[in-house]
Amino acid sequence: MNRRNRDAANRFAERRKREDEAPRLQTEVPKLDGLRLDLEERRTGAVSAEVSHIRRVVVANAPAMFEVPCSDPSCQDGGHELTNGIMRALRHGDEKFEGEDTCLGQVGNASCERVLRYVGTATYRS
Ligand SMILES: [Zn+2]
Repeated sequence: MNRRNRDAANRFAERRKREDEAPRLQTEVPKLDGLRLDLEERRTGAVSAEVSHIRRVVVANAPAMFEVPCSDPSCQDGGHELTNGIMRALRHGDEKFEGEDTCLGQVGNASCERVLRYVGTATYRS
């Protein structure tokens, strides 16, 4: 395994560990029934998204932790930590919420600064 692959594998293992140790989403927000995140990532200044995908969260066993890796494979120590913003919205009972996070990683000698924009759609049991 080369260094980059090993780093990526380590990061993945660390994230898995943190996810395993995190409180469960259902425990933190007992009324939550469904959660969908629409994610769009773009370079700073770019008009259109380069990467977009939809994440459907399995509420029953998901961790109360939302971290999205940076989509630039040459980005070092990057990624998006969305947990605080999303958990605040869910505890508040918001059905629709959105936010942005800028990657703080490094690409070569420059900072990455990719921007991840998310739109969350949540349903709750009454
Ligand atoms: Zn990055």
